[in-house]
Amino acid sequence: MQIVERGPERRVIVKTSPITGEVLGEFPVATREEVEAAVARAREAFPRWRAIPIEERIAILSRMKEILRAKRDEFARRISEDTGKPLVDSIMTELLVVPAFLDHYAKRAPKVLARKRVPASPLFPGKIAYIEYFPMGVIAVISPWNFPFQLAVVPALSALIAGNTVVIKPSEVTPITGELIRELFQAIGLERGVVEVVLGDGSTGAFLTEAKVDKIFFTGSVATGRRVMAAAAKHPIPVELELGGKDAMIVCADAPLERAARGAAWGGLLNCGQMCTSVERIFVEAPVYERFLELLLEEVKKVKVGGPDEGADMGPITFPKQLETVERHVRDALEKGAKLLFGGHRIDRPGQFYAPTLLSDVRPDMAVYTEESFGPILPVIRVRDVEEAIQLANQHEYGLNASVWTRDLQKGFAIASRLECGQVTINDVVSSVAHPGLPFGGVKSSGFGRYHGDEGLLSFVHTRALLADRGWLKTEPFWFPYRRKYEALRDAFDAMTQGKVLNTLYHFIRMMQSG
Ligand code: NDP
Repeated sequence: MQIVERGPERRVIVKTSPITGEVLGEFPVATREEVEAAVARAREAFPRWRAIPIEERIAILSRMKEILRAKRDEFARRISEDTGKPLVDSIMTELLVVPAFLDHYAKRAPKVLARKRVPASPLFPGKIAYIEYFPMGVIAVISPWNFPFQLAVVPALSALIAGNTVVIKPSEVTPITGELIRELFQAIGLERGVVEVVLGDGSTGAFLTEAKVDKIFFTGSVATGRRVMAAAAKHPIPVELELGGKDAMIVCADAPLERAARGAAWGGLLNCGQMCTSVERIFVEAPVYERFLELLLEEVKKVKVGGPDEGADMGPITFPKQLETVERHVRDALEKGAKLLFGGHRIDRPGQFYAPTLLSDVRPDMAVYTEESFGPILPVIRVRDVEEAIQLANQHEYGLNASVWTRDLQKGFAIASRLECGQVTINDVVSSVAHPGLPFGGVKSSGFGRYHGDEGLLSFVHTRALLADRGWLKTEPFWFPYRRKYEALRDAFDAMTQGKVLNTLYHFIRMMQSG
């Protein structure tokens, strides 16, 4: 993948295959003017889109399910060609989640976004209080290359259901999927401007952050997240950051070990480890450390590496630069005393293939422990006990996902509640991110804000507070004049702090009469 000048005003992405290294095509990089025009069209379309009742908006967007069914294999093939991931992954981790979210939101969204009555407060006797929600306007969705379809489409759908219009900026690394997303939204027959897709590189993303949208929903690295937040601060507009992770897996001595080993292999090598929620640090209690390593080694040896047409479990690394990070992490770990139990090298064939890699005796001073690897490495760390595992899991700048493995579910929940991260699975791995009812997001350097679930709708609306009085009385206890209110106010204060609602009301009436 390369950016090349094609004329004075035109730069293009030259997309190469991660599987063969061949050039697959050229895609224009949107200029600042083109990005601003896309935002202007989205702004123009906003009042009409938000005026459509929510149930109808969902019905329109749900046409996507028919298209996905009809074009399932073609779409999966195009995503696999773009990323190198197995066809199973393209359907399972990219396409399948979309109908699941649409169905979930078809039931939940009208309830979540409906106006809500707020319980009465003794401070406001007789008044009616509501919360209502309204869309923000134009949402910028800036997405990465590792799950280029779902990480753009799911937040876009959530924002659209909530009544916003959307401008999507896919990653330059995966422009084929960017085009596919554009086609998909066009195919459901939305009015122009409701969803705009601007293809391009980092500069295109930067133009979008400067184009005065109403919120930026960003998924990507911490470094770019900081730049996005700084750009948002200029307007200022809200920003949501879904950033990296260094997810801990805690294997307790009473864990179902075979399941844990299979879970570790899948959770760490799925999508070639290029996942924010990938298993990147495996803490194993000392009594089962050796046995767990034996089981995990068996699993890793079985992983078949290859292209989408080879029935592989794991494809190549999508982004060439990522390969260098993986190599650096493995080299550094071995220099500092980690043991290489499997892999640790590129695979001798065209494309960016790297062997699934199992490292034991990993320690916190190694880059493979401190930095996000985003590659097919499974680093295993021996811990004395669960306490040490929790302490190490939390002593990290990231806090996205974690998993706990134990046959004692209550113990699992107790450990989970002490982990500093956005989501925890127990005896399972990664999967919570795909549950449409569960919120997703990180803490610390993994970002902030939540999407998916009810929170995923609420993060794309503003909240409006409504307080109504029927207007029957001429005045209010708190209004002017203050002259003789002090005594009654003190009595009201005392009554309220003692929870005496009727007395409070009585003193409020005195306050009103004092004027
Ligand atoms: P990047 O931060 O490099 O890029 C993310 C997106 O931002 C891309 O579309 C990129 O465009 C764009 N971009 C680049 N520069 C700017 C800029 N100055 N202003 C605005 N946008 C810009 O991340 P990657 O694509 O490399 O993705 C990998 C990272 O994403 C990992 O750290 C991973 O953990 C994280 N991630 C987090 C997830 C989560 O939900 N928490 C999920 C998946 C990944 P371009 O690519 O064209 O340069």
